[in-house]
Amino acid sequence: MFNFILFGPPGSGKGTQSIKVAEKYNLAHISTGDIFRRNIKEKTELGIKVKSIIEKGELVPDELLIDILDDAMSKVSGKDGFVFDGFPRTCQQARDMDVLLSLKKESVSIVLALDVNDEEIIGRLLKRAELQGRKDDTKEVIENRLDIYNKQTQPLIKFYKEQNKFTSVNGIGGVEDICNSICTVIDSQ
Ligand code: ADP
Repeated sequence: MFNFILFGPPGSGKGTQSIKVAEKYNLAHISTGDIFRRNIKEKTELGIKVKSIIEKGELVPDELLIDILDDAMSKVSGKDGFVFDGFPRTCQQARDMDVLLSLKKESVSIVLALDVNDEEIIGRLLKRAELQGRKDDTKEVIENRLDIYNKQTQPLIKFYKEQNKFTSVNGIGGVEDICNSICTVIDSQ
């Protein structure tokens, strides 16, 4: 199985590229952000629990994530692996993921980051706010999300570099060009 983590700050294009990569390589796309938004919309117990956390741009507690991941992975069949989009976001999540995958006799194949600077990110997210009206895309919340990314998620780069699993591509440019760069990295594996 090919277990691919698409990594990068909020607004780096992980969602868009994950869908394309998943389709091209017959992988299941697992976006924890999408799972949370679906639960909020459907007012499930989980949705009610995480709504205010997400609206503030904070991270959902690690202990909730692993069961969500396990559940999402268990529902998949007939795929050649997974694209993880928005997970893991903390070192604890990365360690929990390794345990879960090893129970399934699997492991993380590669971690690929979309490289996009903060200025571009803020511009994109503000634009998305206008187009999609996501509650966590206001200026204040965006800054909080970037801050949390820098403090809690960036350290994962070191975690995966130490395992020789980390690589990155330029995340600024046309959607197709970025997709081609990602595919070149995947094909070279
Ligand atoms: P983005 O990449 O634009 O920040 P996502 O759709 O991936 O957006 O996530 C939206 C929000 O959902 C995050 O800001 C966070 O509150 C919550 N979330 C998603 N994935 C995780 C995760 N792995 N751990 C904790 N919180 C998460």
